[in-house]
Amino acid sequence: METFDAIVVGAGVAGLTAARLLAQAGQGVLVLEARDRIGGRTWTEHADGFTTDRGASWIHGIDGNPLAQVVDAFGMRSVEFTVGSYQSHSRPIAYYGPAGERLSEEASHAFGEDIREFDSHLAATIGVSVPGSSYADAIEETLTALDWEASRAARVREFMYHRAEEQYGVSAGNLDAHGLDDDSVEGDEVVFPEGFGELAAHLAKGLDIRLDHVVTRVQWSPDGARVMCGQGGFSAAKVIVTVPIGILKSGDFEFSPALPEPLTDAIAGFEMNNFEKVFLRFPRKFWDHDVYAIRQQGDAGTWWHSWYDLTDLHGVPTLLTFAAGPSALETRGWSDGHIAESVLQALRGIYGELVETPEHVLVTNWQDDPFSRGSYAYMTPGSRTEHHDLLATPVAGVLHLAGEATWGEDPATVTAALRSGHRAAQNILGRELPFKTLSDRI
Ligand SMILES: Cc1cc2nc3c(=O)[nH]c(=O)nc-3n(C[C@H](O)[C@H](O)[C@H](O)COP(=O)(O)OP(=O)(O)OC[C@H]3O[C@@H](n4cnc5c(N)ncnc54)[C@H](O)[C@@H]3O)c2cc1C
Repeated sequence: METFDAIVVGAGVAGLTAARLLAQAGQGVLVLEARDRIGGRTWTEHADGFTTDRGASWIHGIDGNPLAQVVDAFGMRSVEFTVGSYQSHSRPIAYYGPAGERLSEEASHAFGEDIREFDSHLAATIGVSVPGSSYADAIEETLTALDWEASRAARVREFMYHRAEEQYGVSAGNLDAHGLDDDSVEGDEVVFPEGFGELAAHLAKGLDIRLDHVVTRVQWSPDGARVMCGQGGFSAAKVIVTVPIGILKSGDFEFSPALPEPLTDAIAGFEMNNFEKVFLRFPRKFWDHDVYAIRQQGDAGTWWHSWYDLTDLHGVPTLLTFAAGPSALETRGWSDGHIAESVLQALRGIYGELVETPEHVLVTNWQDDPFSRGSYAYMTPGSRTEHHDLLATPVAGVLHLAGEATWGEDPATVTAALRSGHRAAQNILGRELPFKTLSDRI
C-alpha cells in the first residue's frame, strides 16, 4: 500500500489549497479526486470559442479577502461586476414593475431605500429570533411590525424570498433565520473573463493528483488513516476530507469509526441546495443598455425574475439567470429547451416581440451531479452558524474536514473553500502560513 504524509480527498479549491501548502512545506501529499477533472464546483467550460463558468463565477467582495490576493498572485485577469450577491441597487439595475412597466429612477431608488430600511429591521428581528425560526418567519415578523402599505410590503417580501433563493438556493421557509447572516459584501465583486477554473489549474501545478479515484471509506485511528477507493487503499499519517456535505450525507462515503460529535450534529443541520445557472446567448442585444441586471417584480417574476448581462464579459449578447430553490426543484427534470422557453416567456413579459431566439442555451445540473449533489450547503432551521466551523474540529489529530461548508464567516463560497483548506494545512503543520506563498513553486 502506498504511504504518504497526507492524503487529501477532493481536488476542489479547498483540497488543492491544503495539498499545495502541505507540499510546499515538504510533505509527501496525494490528492484523490472522483471526477475526471480538477476544480470541483469551480468548473470553466471552454467550447466553440466561449468561456462559461458552470460553477462559481464571482468573488463576493475583494476587500480584505485572501482569495483576491491569491488570484492576483497567480496573475488571473478579473473584471468588476458588483451584482452577484443579490444587491437591490448598488449598481444600475433595470426594474420592471408587476405590470411590466420599467420603474423610473426615483421609484427604483425608493425601492432600494425600502430594502435598506427593511434589512436593518430584519437584522434586529433575527438577532432575537427563537432557535429554529426560519428566514421566512423573520421576514413576516418584520413586515408585521413595520405595517407598510400592502403593495410596498409585497415588493419587499418577494425581494427577500428571491434573495434566499438566489443566495442559498432554497426557499426562505426552509432556511434558518441566521442562514444569511454572512451576507455582506466588502468592496467590489469581480468575475473572470478566462474563467474561475484557472484558480484550480494554478493550485494543482506540481501536485500528485489521481483523477477517477472515488473514495468510499476513510478508516482512521490516532496512529493514522487508510483511504479506500476502487483502485485499492492508500495510507497516510493525516487525511483531509473536502467532499461536499451532499457526499458526507449520501451514505456512499463512510468513516470508520464513524465521525464523533460535534461533527455529526453539525453535518445533520446542513443540506445541499437546489441552484442552477441558465445561460442564454442571443444574436442581438434586445434588453436595456448600461445595466448590470434586469429584475421583474410581482407574480410574473415568481420563477424567473433576475437576468444578469454578461455581454461585456463574453463578448457576445448573453444573459444569465438562475433556477433557484423552488424553480430549480420544479424544472429539475425539464429539457434545456423547455427551460429556455419558460425563461423567454418571462422575458417577453418585459420586452414583448423584441425577444430574440437564443443561439445557444446552457443549463447546469448540479442537483444530479453524483460528486456534489447540489451547488452548496445551507443551514436548515435549527442549525447554528457555529456549526460551520465545528465541522473543522480535528479528529484524533489525524482526520480533518475542510470545504466551503466548514468555514463560518463566508460559507458557500470559493473564499470559504480556500480559507478552510488553508486552516486544515495550518492545523496539520501547527504553524501559521501566509496565503501569498500559494503562488510559489512546489
Ligand atoms: C452553480 C454554482 C454557482 C456558484 N457561484 C459561486 C460564486 O459566484 N462565488 C463563490 O464564491 N462561490 C460560488 N459557488 C460555490 C463555490 O463554487 C463552492 O463553495 C466552492 O467551489 C467549493 O469548493 P470545495 O473545495 O469546498 O468543494 P468542491 O469544489 O466540491 O471540491 C470537492 C471535490 O471532492 C470531489 N469528490 C466528491 N466526492 C468524492 C469522493 N467520493 N472521492 C473523491 N473525491 C470526491 C469532488 O469531485 C470535488 O472535486 C457556486 C457553486 C455553484 C455550483
